[in-house]
Amino acid sequence: MLVTLKEILKEAYKNKYAIAGFNVYGYEDAISVVKASEKLNLPVILMTNVDAINHMPIKILGKMLIEIAEKAKVPVVVHLDHGKTIEVVKKALEAGFSSVMYDGSALPLEENIRNTKAVVDLASKYGASVEGEIGSVGYSDPALNSNASYTDPSEAQLFFEKTGVDALAVAIGTLHRMTEQEAVIQYELLEQIEAMTHVPLVLHGSTGVKDSDLKKLSSKGICKVNIGTAIRMAFGHTMRDEFNKNPLEFDRIKLFKEPMKQVEQVVMHKMRILGGENA
Ligand SMILES: [Zn+2]
Repeated sequence: MLVTLKEILKEAYKNKYAIAGFNVYGYEDAISVVKASEKLNLPVILMTNVDAINHMPIKILGKMLIEIAEKAKVPVVVHLDHGKTIEVVKKALEAGFSSVMYDGSALPLEENIRNTKAVVDLASKYGASVEGEIGSVGYSDPALNSNASYTDPSEAQLFFEKTGVDALAVAIGTLHRMTEQEAVIQYELLEQIEAMTHVPLVLHGSTGVKDSDLKKLSSKGICKVNIGTAIRMAFGHTMRDEFNKNPLEFDRIKLFKEPMKQVEQVVMHKMRILGGENA
């Protein structure tokens, strides 16, 4: 069933576990994520980022994801990841997304607060949830690197009080697009932020986080864990193996089978670590 982020994060916050959000690019990964969640009987977040909606128009991708969510046997959120403008957020809301992230982390604090509040007001008309970001999670690829900076706990407190977001992305040591689990987590900083905000916190760039850290973080106020690279690697690397093993095969439905299975395996592995009511 399609649900909002707010609904599922409330339980996660109260009971100290985290819900996985996966960045998906099409039908194959989206359906594999939902199948894994159904096997574990856990809620999940299907996310689309700007790369995905540049590839497939948001109206088309949104309809497909919403249909998948509505048919699912577990609660599924359809979420826009890193909406950088109010226009793209509006498009997602119009397409029926149950949750949106507005990322004003590169803007001066006041402007980030002002725009995020406008998104919260807009999303409430659609009954959708909002995730904001304070501090800035950078990228492991130097070409993409913006000015990454840790979250300041007092800024986080002010941001939450002024905007009333349902979830808050924080920068505590992770980077986007890491291919190895090498992130060094700033636990002390996380504790300070948690103590000053009391809002479900979101970890971006979680592919780069060790399994043991993921487990620890999910009991310390991190309620949503964003994973993209790990399932893209599972899909892409398995696909390459399939091509090599079957040089004459050209039917992509056959070639997709094994990559989809591998995505399902990675999703189940990550979800088991993060815990939850039924994990
Ligand atoms: Zn992110």
